[in-house]
Amino acid sequence: MSDCLFCKIVEGKIPAQKVYEDEDILAFKDISPIRPVHVLVIPKKHITSLATAGAEDVLVLGKILAKANEIAVSQGSPDGFRVIINTGRVGQQEVPHLHVHIVGGPDPVGPMLKRI
Ligand code: 5GP
Ligand code: ZN
Repeated sequence: MSDCLFCKIVEGKIPAQKVYEDEDILAFKDISPIRPVHVLVIPKKHITSLATAGAEDVLVLGKILAKANEIAVSQGSPDGFRVIINTGRVGQQEVPHLHVHIVGGPDPVGPMLKRI
């Protein structure tokens, strides 16, 4: 997709600190990390969000989750991590190309969300 930030990273038009890549997915460090380990994993194919993903995306979504632990361990989160997929307006997704946040580090990441 021509006007998509993360598609531009896939195409090499915008630089990123890549930590894993294969033919279907790309993982790179978040530009503004919230924890010592903060990696974004994306499908190379443009999918806007989980709200628009379809049956044809099942394999790539599974691949991202299946790679998450290996990526987390390689980046310095050997004892677990948290996966976050912000989706749409209510999920406060800022970049409209589906991405999985992997956050972690040596210490526990903290509470999931504040209670209402
Ligand atoms: P969202 O709120 O959409 O789930 O998260 C978007 C994430 O993308 C944010 O954590 C933000 O720091 C990250 N981000 C935004 N622009 C860039 C960029 O140009 N490069 C990288 N590496 N991360 C970005
Ligand atoms: Zn895109």
